[in-house]
Amino acid sequence: MAVTYYDLNMLIDGEWISAKDRETLAVLNPATGEEIGRLPVATRADLDRAAAASARAFGEWKAMSAYARAKVLVRAAAILRERASDIAHLMTVEQGKPLAEAQMEVRNLPDILEWDAEEGRRTYGRVIPSRVPEQRQIVIKEPVGPVATFTPWNFPALIPARKIAAVLAAGCTCIIKPAEETPATALAIARAFVDAGVPEGVLNVVFGRTPAEVSEALISSPHIRAISFTGSTAVGKHLSEMAARGVKRTVMELGGHAPVIVMPDVDVEGLAEQAARRKYRNSGQGCVNPTRFYVHDSIFDRFAARFVEIVRSIKPGNGLDSGTQMGPLAHARRVDAMKECVDDARRHGGKVLCGGEPIEGRGFFFQPTVLADVPGSAHIMKEEPFGPIVVLNRFADLDAVLREANGLPYGLAAYAFTRDGALAHRLSMQLEAGMIGINTFALGAPDAIGAPETPFGGVKESGYGSEGGTEGIDAYLTVKLISQF
Ligand code: NAD
Repeated sequence: MAVTYYDLNMLIDGEWISAKDRETLAVLNPATGEEIGRLPVATRADLDRAAAASARAFGEWKAMSAYARAKVLVRAAAILRERASDIAHLMTVEQGKPLAEAQMEVRNLPDILEWDAEEGRRTYGRVIPSRVPEQRQIVIKEPVGPVATFTPWNFPALIPARKIAAVLAAGCTCIIKPAEETPATALAIARAFVDAGVPEGVLNVVFGRTPAEVSEALISSPHIRAISFTGSTAVGKHLSEMAARGVKRTVMELGGHAPVIVMPDVDVEGLAEQAARRKYRNSGQGCVNPTRFYVHDSIFDRFAARFVEIVRSIKPGNGLDSGTQMGPLAHARRVDAMKECVDDARRHGGKVLCGGEPIEGRGFFFQPTVLADVPGSAHIMKEEPFGPIVVLNRFADLDAVLREANGLPYGLAAYAFTRDGALAHRLSMQLEAGMIGINTFALGAPDAIGAPETPFGGVKESGYGSEGGTEGIDAYLTVKLISQF
């Protein structure tokens, strides 16, 4: 049965709020540029109501046992499993990624919810022996309170699910503002939670005329006790500053610019092919996407030749068409950003080995692009392209290239490829990033995007706090000492 793009809503205090008689935004299919839906946006009164509802519902949700909360998450996981192919379809229509990639992303959601459900039941405290026999000292963990979460458009299912599941498993309530570009996927996830029996007000979904209108209202609300954001470093800094004014906890998953060091002892053609296929997933719109390749001079020409050969064979198109290997960019402004990035690299003396231009016709497409020998002064060597552009640069001196790899304010993911075990160890210790892939681009389980059991997060200006792993739940827990005589 064909899936249609259904009416878009907000969810506030258990009530689905439609677009009827409200200010709305257009939602576009990035593969065609056509409008596919109208999205209602929150007024200030809606946001105040959502914040108040999340505070009221917090009392109820916190008072439930972790065991009972886990049951809701497990039911939601089962519902998501049943609806997975419909949700993947919605994602491709509104975000553009090939259907197979959307399906892979959605397949992971039940795992995330089930894992968080279990982990939420293990938020153990401890007993600390006292210095005097009459005293008992107990440390317990408590949910921090209502959490405002902000998620981007590049992984419209994974990132909302990961935040909602961890927040709810910790016993907190959640207001989520998904990206306005990709609302239906997040709404489908919220529906699964509602259908699983999450109490009214525990999960709220809002959208903004601008994202800033929502974040300013929620972060300054006295009801909100923590903020979790995934997006650009610039916005993350701004939200962190606002949160600091209310001394509110934050989890920040921000931008990266992942270096890849390729030593001469690798299977050159095999790795070039693997890297080229990996790079253009999600049209390169991923924060751990490999973006700066540093390839040893002695193998550079062979590596680049095979890489370009594979890239030339990548078939861009509508993600719903079978055979499409790379979808459009998520919105029109990213196409302009890609063009500017390539032109700037050219002006600084970089070479364009293939691609480099928007693709004519409908939709927001840009050619898969390979740049080479790009000097450090070019914009792309300082800021992640967040699109289908890669840089292949050559190196001879490992110490110098390590300095270059670590030379940016970002530190999310970094990769290195070598068969030399001692060197692999050294690189894993000396690369400055929250996640390191040695001889792999898979951070976590090879067949999963965002495996729930492993922590995901960055260092330096790529953010702080982790999602996934036991750390992902800890982010929403506070510590209380009870000293009793
Ligand atoms: P953008 O900075 O306008 O938006 C990025 C995301 O942040 C969007 O989801 C947006 O809704 C949200 N956002 C923006 N301003 C906000 C605010 N004041 N309050 C709350 N949320 C806000 O940029 P864009 O053109 O959509 O994307 C381009 C850049 O964003 C990329 O270069 C990339 O660095 C970054 N980005 C990062 C991730 C990630 O996974 N870390 C995901 C998407 C985008």
